[in-house]
Amino acid sequence: MIIKPKSRGFICTTAHPVGCAKQVERQINYVKAQPAISGPKNVLVIGASTGYGLASRIVAAFGSNANTIGVYFDKAAEGTRTASAGWYNSAAFEQAASEAGLKSYSIVGDAFSDEIKEKTINLIQSQLGKIDLVVYSVASPRRTHPKTGETFSSVIKPLGETYSNKTVNFHSGEVSIATIEPATEDELRQTIAVMGGEDWQMWIEQLQAANVLTEDATTVAYSYLGPEITHAVYLDGTIGAAKKDLEETANRLHEQLSSTGGRAYVSVNKALVTQSSSAIPVVPLYISALYKVMKEQQIHEGCIEQMYRLFADRLYNEAGTAVDERRLIRVDDWEMKANIQAEVAEIWEQLTTENVYDLSDLKGYHREFFQLFGFETDGVDYEAEVDPFVDIINLR
Ligand code: NAD
Repeated sequence: MIIKPKSRGFICTTAHPVGCAKQVERQINYVKAQPAISGPKNVLVIGASTGYGLASRIVAAFGSNANTIGVYFDKAAEGTRTASAGWYNSAAFEQAASEAGLKSYSIVGDAFSDEIKEKTINLIQSQLGKIDLVVYSVASPRRTHPKTGETFSSVIKPLGETYSNKTVNFHSGEVSIATIEPATEDELRQTIAVMGGEDWQMWIEQLQAANVLTEDATTVAYSYLGPEITHAVYLDGTIGAAKKDLEETANRLHEQLSSTGGRAYVSVNKALVTQSSSAIPVVPLYISALYKVMKEQQIHEGCIEQMYRLFADRLYNEAGTAVDERRLIRVDDWEMKANIQAEVAEIWEQLTTENVYDLSDLKGYHREFFQLFGFETDGVDYEAEVDPFVDIINLR
């Protein structure tokens, strides 16, 4: 079939296998061109098929020669529907890892369930023995609790007060004011249950109980802080509360793991175009302004550059892992530089529908959004027939 993008809002319901494979290849080539990392050897990535999780897996495999297990929630092609982007990304990753002589396995299913945790543990026991790095990079709108069966939904809302700020429809370029009512207590509770640390903690405890973590195992989960502009809807809102819970979980896990030389961190990453971030009001417009400034200053990074820096300069560098006063790893340091933020704030004040393409990199945002699904990628013939049915080798 000939595959074209079909998007509604921040969702694209089609994905292009050749384009996704090219995007993965580009990330692998970036990592191969960097100095090798003396890092982990057997890595579990939970949420491994897109965004920061995929980039973490690529850095582990191609930067540190690690065997990897990727857990993710993606769909194969069926009937006239293409597979999801994460499916095609993972198919390309598995192929490349196998060609490089690395062990790699995929588990597709709900990471929040006990079933998938058990399946992963069995796979580690039979194929890898022990894991020395666990990356937790799940971003999901929902979670069903494995013990109580309750299904929680997360919301992106402010707390306490109604919040209004500029936002953009990144398809049409229309800049408007988004007004978001504050979350209820129950919405806050549910968002923490989905995006907080409980599932991460369950994973680590179950891996520990099964004795499949090395004594010095590291685990890392990802967070975002961001500038004043986004605080009400992010840091000080429901999602920020969930991230505070994630931070507290990291401190608890660190205490548990450090008695044998292990460690647990939250890494604060840069705002980037991913399927998850495109769903947050205000953020896509902020990212467009940020990209403009960071590209001009030649310090722009994507997921792969961020994750390479996390592994090479933070988690596995000789000087030891640098953290801030809250014990957070900061790879959002370049985004948060005072001069970058000052320029973004100046642009923010002026942004309107009329000038958004001049003052911000909305064009770049739009392109990267479609690249997430394998579209708008150089070297791909989008008029050519392509088989949407792609197998993932090593799928368990
Ligand atoms: P993403 O949407 O690109 O990736 C999410 C991953 O989670 C995918 O692999 C998906 O398959 C997987 N997933 C979702 N539900 C699952 C389930 N039930 N079971 C198994 N896998 C599941 O998201 P992302 O932006 O890379 O976010 C990853 C983490 O990074 C999140 O914690 C996010 O808050 C954080 N982060 C993102 C940004 C950003 O700007 N995108 C910035 C800083 C931190």
